[in-house]
Amino acid sequence: MGQLFIDGAWTTAVDGGRREIRSPADGHLVAEVDEAGAKDTELAIAAARRAFDDHRWSSVPAPERGALLLRVADLLQRDKARLARAETDDTGKRVAESEIDMDDITNCFRWFGHLASTDDGRLVDTGIAAARSKVVHEPVGVCGLITPWNYPLLQTAWKVAPALGAGCSFVLKPSELTPHTAIILMELLAEAGVPDGVANLVLGAGATAGAPLSTDPRVDMVSFTGGLVTGRRIMESAAPTVKKVALELGGKNPFVLFADADHETAVDNALTAIFLHSGQVCSAGARLVVEESAHDRIVDDLVARARRIRLGGPDDPETETGPLISAAHRDKVEAYVAAGVAEGAVLRCGGERPTDPKLQNGYFYPPTILDRCTQDMSVVHDESFGPVLTVETFTDLDDAVRIANDTEYGLAGAVFSADHGTCEEVAARLRHGTIWINDFGPYVPAAEWGGFGHSGVGRELGRAGFAEYQEPKHIWTNTRPGPTGWFPSSRDTERSGAGPIDSAGSGS
Ligand code: NAD
Repeated sequence: MGQLFIDGAWTTAVDGGRREIRSPADGHLVAEVDEAGAKDTELAIAAARRAFDDHRWSSVPAPERGALLLRVADLLQRDKARLARAETDDTGKRVAESEIDMDDITNCFRWFGHLASTDDGRLVDTGIAAARSKVVHEPVGVCGLITPWNYPLLQTAWKVAPALGAGCSFVLKPSELTPHTAIILMELLAEAGVPDGVANLVLGAGATAGAPLSTDPRVDMVSFTGGLVTGRRIMESAAPTVKKVALELGGKNPFVLFADADHETAVDNALTAIFLHSGQVCSAGARLVVEESAHDRIVDDLVARARRIRLGGPDDPETETGPLISAAHRDKVEAYVAAGVAEGAVLRCGGERPTDPKLQNGYFYPPTILDRCTQDMSVVHDESFGPVLTVETFTDLDDAVRIANDTEYGLAGAVFSADHGTCEEVAARLRHGTIWINDFGPYVPAAEWGGFGHSGVGRELGRAGFAEYQEPKHIWTNTRPGPTGWFPSSRDTERSGAGPIDSAGSGS
């Protein structure tokens, strides 16, 4: 039995490809999985297309589709421990963190389950007594769903739940580094009663297994979460077939801190904002933008606390944060830190691989703080996606907003101040998709998630995240049909002596 799931059956890759999955925490072999190529993805697309075109899922009444999502939520809770362990094995994050993710995923399925159950379109008041107008929501069709490695099943759930709720069929391609929870999800979808061919899974590299999802004309929509460079490529390759494209890309998120904010709260939140999951969070607060007068005390305390964060593998009870996902990713983070120092940033802590013998087989990198940064440094404007905090200072509110908005991205940002007016004004002026006031990180499935600028196109979660998977269709009914009277009728033209146009129009 293979691990690709196509047309309701577990199958191996056509050309027999396999890939080793190794723990980023200690390099042990987690498992070997099937590695799809383009041919496998094309088979999966064909299955999804057949399933969509024969309406086996889209014709299921919306309340039943919603009920199925609620069943999936129950199964996710039943198998929470197994799922959390699989997520931890692939990512190296602590089991407790994976368990939180599984609860979030369950809530996501529940929320879309309820939304799908109640989605019955809307009547439009035309202002014309004889006309009835209704907008109904139809599924977009076959969706290609491409997801990253940092929150593997969570990012998958944000796509799979609304896609199924809307009545779409799909081909999912998770990150080649973290496939296991997607495999388990396919088992659970089948157990919950998703018809064969509606939910398909291919595992493998982006350029081979992933690419057909943005080029194949049988795919109606591609929904992608990942890096900006890949997102641009996907958008370009989707253009010839004019697919709907939804992109959730990176962020370079400002944490704006005014001097009047509660000190302990601000330091603690700033620390968590960047060092949770070793900074491998799209909404990480990677840029501290702090009022100059508070700079010294804030940064000194951040440095002291960052130095105490304990790195380790997921099974070490002392661990506070885990490894980076791969050797290549650690090299990238390291290069950004080196570039920042070369460009004039002051390294306050971290910046060197740990020497602890226990950590030598994993891709660990310590919490790193670069002080006295400026926006022209690559470590400030590019997404390093690691445990690297850059510090910039501001003098007044306008300056704070200018610095916080000086990014090509626009995913998330936070403002901390004791003055509510200050918070409201900064929140109103930040050009980012999510703003936290005196908080950092929380989200709920009912509220939209996504970015301004180069952080993406479209939204996930919320009603807009459901609408991504729907085509609105307007149905107009004239209850008292009759001639339009726009052009002269045959009777009118006979009376006025007109000839040839009338005889052509009469069809005789
Ligand atoms: P990535 O762009 O390298 O890969 C993401 C996915 O795309 C993977 O499944 C990969 O195999 C696939 N892929 C790569 N090339 C492809 C191609 N040509 N065609 C089709 N698929 C292709 O990103 P990553 O390193 O896995 O994830 C980290 C990135 O994800 C960060 O930039 C992070 O900010 C972003 N992210 C964004 C959000 C958000 O909500 N905005 C959430 C999580 C992660």
